[in-house]
Amino acid sequence: MDLIKKESDKIADLAKLKELNKLKELDKIEKHVLAGAQITDEQIELLCAWDEKNIEPLNNAAYRIREHYFGKSITFCGIVNAKSGVCSEDCKFCAQSKHYKTKSTITPFLSTAEIVEKAVVLYDAKASRYGIVTSGKGLDENDLVKLVTAIKDVKKTGMIVDISVGIQDKKTLSLLKDAGAEGYHHNLETARSFFPKICTSHDYEEDVQTVADAVALGFYVCSGGIFGLGESFADRVELAKTLAELQVNSVPINFLHPIAGTPLAERAILSVAEALKIVALYRFMLPKKHLRICGGRHTVFQTEESQRQLFLSGASGMMIGDYLTVAGDSVVKDNKRAETLGLLIN
Ligand code: SF4
Repeated sequence: MDLIKKESDKIADLAKLKELNKLKELDKIEKHVLAGAQITDEQIELLCAWDEKNIEPLNNAAYRIREHYFGKSITFCGIVNAKSGVCSEDCKFCAQSKHYKTKSTITPFLSTAEIVEKAVVLYDAKASRYGIVTSGKGLDENDLVKLVTAIKDVKKTGMIVDISVGIQDKKTLSLLKDAGAEGYHHNLETARSFFPKICTSHDYEEDVQTVADAVALGFYVCSGGIFGLGESFADRVELAKTLAELQVNSVPINFLHPIAGTPLAERAILSVAEALKIVALYRFMLPKKHLRICGGRHTVFQTEESQRQLFLSGASGMMIGDYLTVAGDSVVKDNKRAETLGLLIN
């Protein structure tokens, strides 16, 4: 009996030692990143292998890095789905693709008054950036004219205007910038090598080119991805490296909200721990970039406790209000939560 006990004590001691060594390693990586050095592939591997059952130390370390670069501040942004549905593309997660039968509403380009009205509501809720988003690979001439008018009018509200209008050439991007758009939002969605499993109607390089052109034109570029599509941690690392190479300013992190009728309708929702691990990984790999939690926040983080964990994670911003095709939570709650946690909304 004694012998068995001694053996089990030994195993427990070994496990504790292993845990301690991991924490020491994590501490080293944190110091390395805080000193301004780039994380190594070996260090990335260690983060990817982090045990999700013990997510707290990793999440706390990511929060300290975020605090180092952004202080106590958190930014809020909001969007309007200015034209929704009937998209020619076949992104497997999307309610708006015409390839799938979903209950998503189809609306033509909203009136400028409607777009401005929503901007005012979000501005009052302390959102500093406002994204005008349209479905589809690009925009036709008529919608382009409407967009230019909307950009000019939203600017008058004091909101920073961002646009997310698909794959565009440099000439159109330039025209939209001249109209007053400051940010261009275009997600790469996932890693180059995983992309063909998610979208086959256009090439990844078309997305990359749009992002590169927007960066070159001096837009504030917001480009990230959606997680929980079945991609591996290696795919997540690959995407982060591509975004770093492209020198985007801000990285939106979306989590899959499975939509009935799409090929990913039955995919399991990510666990809170896995989602926090992704945010931490991105904070370590992209320490100075804004990481904004966007779609799927309330799908994954369903409890107040988990939302608080997220607000005190590596993320430096949140999208508030409604998402593209899914209703969001109360903006009042988000404001109150940030305030209670001692964060400053800017
Ligand atoms: S994610 Fe964008 S491009 Fe893809 S189907 Fe949806 S609206 Fe179209």
